[in-house]
Amino acid sequence: MSGGLNLMLVGAPGSGKGTQAKRLVEKYNMPQLSTGDILRQAIKDQTALGIQAKEFMDAGKLVPDELIMGLIEERFGHADYQNGWILDGFPRTMPQAEGLSALLDRTGKKLKHVILLDVPGEAIVERIVGRRSCPACGNVHHVRFSPPKSEGICDACGGALVQRSDDTEEKVRVRFGQYESETASVIPYFEPLGIVASVDGQQSADEVFAAITGILEG
Ligand code: AMP
Repeated sequence: MSGGLNLMLVGAPGSGKGTQAKRLVEKYNMPQLSTGDILRQAIKDQTALGIQAKEFMDAGKLVPDELIMGLIEERFGHADYQNGWILDGFPRTMPQAEGLSALLDRTGKKLKHVILLDVPGEAIVERIVGRRSCPACGNVHHVRFSPPKSEGICDACGGALVQRSDDTEEKVRVRFGQYESETASVIPYFEPLGIVASVDGQQSADEVFAAITGILEG
């Protein structure tokens, strides 16, 4: 695909954003900008950002907008972000959505697609609590829906799978509450651009991927 893809994936925690973003990266060779992945790496590396973000993430709460916008501005300056990107888990609040719009205006970039992965609230807890992630490569399995070939081992890289510390039922409820109260309102903000599409996120990962690529290439 020529030009920048400039895509945003939106959806509740556990709706499949990370899984689909990784497939899209492979197909279109665009960088994935996952604020969650960047923050987890910052915590591991004990950077100033990681130290500030940790208490919020441990509680399942959103990290303050200023920290997130600082991180985004920094990433957007990288050379590999000049030709398209896949936003995964950002923006998650109205100030972040407005901050993104301002940043795009300022840098002459345009958002081309907003894709909502639609999964009903009652399915979220099972999707997240059964999730097993690979800290080494970011691949995600699910104990029931996409079990690894060998238990506890990532199919993609052979790394040891873990349950993320915020993937417990108690924290999922907090995170989903934040999605409903803060993040869901980001979708109507982008509606006037005429670029928002919704995909049934409860289909198989292959079907969801086919639906997304259909929209991007449609
Ligand atoms: P995720 O990997 O997208 O599920 O994000 C994990 C956690 O990182 C969230 O529960 C938040 O604490 C934090 N986080 C990730 N992205 C954002 C964002 N755009 N704004 C605020 N907090 C975020």
